[in-house]
Amino acid sequence: MVGELNTLKTEAEQSFQDAATKDDVEKLRVGFLGKKGKLTSVLRGMGKLSKEDRPKVGSKANEVRDLLEELVKSNLLRIKEKERAAEFEDRIDVTLPGRRRGYGRTHPLTRTADDILSVLSSLGFTLAEGPEIEHDFYNFEALNMPADHPARDMQDTFYINDDVVLRTHTSPVQIRAMLSLKKAPVRVACFGRVYRNDHDVTHSPMFHQIEGLYVDKQVTFGDLKGTLQVFAERIFRPGTKVRLRPSFFPFTEPSAEVDITCFMCAGEGTLKTGDTCRICKGTGWIEIMGAGMVDPEVFKHSGFDPDEVSGFAFGIGVERVAMLRYGISDIRLFFENDQRFLHQFF
Ligand SMILES: [Zn+2]
Repeated sequence: MVGELNTLKTEAEQSFQDAATKDDVEKLRVGFLGKKGKLTSVLRGMGKLSKEDRPKVGSKANEVRDLLEELVKSNLLRIKEKERAAEFEDRIDVTLPGRRRGYGRTHPLTRTADDILSVLSSLGFTLAEGPEIEHDFYNFEALNMPADHPARDMQDTFYINDDVVLRTHTSPVQIRAMLSLKKAPVRVACFGRVYRNDHDVTHSPMFHQIEGLYVDKQVTFGDLKGTLQVFAERIFRPGTKVRLRPSFFPFTEPSAEVDITCFMCAGEGTLKTGDTCRICKGTGWIEIMGAGMVDPEVFKHSGFDPDEVSGFAFGIGVERVAMLRYGISDIRLFFENDQRFLHQFF
């Protein structure tokens, strides 16, 4: 029987070495140590042994059982370590190129707004902000647009209720600035989102405006034109000319549309190739913003005496400037967050 146990031992050592999975080990464990296992059946024969042989065989049997248990344990560990190593091998392929970490870029609108605000800041304007959900008073009434004023229809307004709207322009910030500063000079740049119920390739229901307001004693239309001239040259290019065309806004009198010479064809209307300029459509001029002298009615609503002070205001659309600068024809591209588009701007 001792011979049988020795054979069993050799067989076990060989079999466990060949085991490749946990299941293999389990099968072997059952095969040797289970109720119907090989060791168990050998031990069953012990009853037939003589008294002298029994202890010898018994101790050999114990030795083999201990060895089998040890083999189960050590081979499970071996397989587990091998599996873990394989898992890492799958995950880490050292031959792959490194992962490139993406760099963030400034959004073209943010960049354009920053540029405009930095020019205004260099001209002495300080940043002013106000709420996007605005009272009727600040958005319309104080800006010389009483309840029955037709200009309210001009702007397709999002009403929250009868008295509260999503602001349709940044002009209410001018009112808020004047009411809080209370005395001249007031020189503020109002920047923020505005909302109008309008959308196509050149209009978005949400867009950004920047307005400049300067109120002081004896501010003239000449001051306005000079400011716009510096502004246009700094935002577009040196030599850009400014043209003012008569217009109408309820909150300024007189009012003007502001045109600049086309930066694409330098105001010629045609390109060097002889083609008609598509930016200005051959006119040589591009409409860029609205401006004017602050209406006396606006001063009255803002705590200023129109006999003592005068002022000018101008408003520009950030999207419009960005579209012109970068040659973008669809405003929606700014808001789709497609990285292929956004990554073109440095
Ligand atoms: Zn042009």
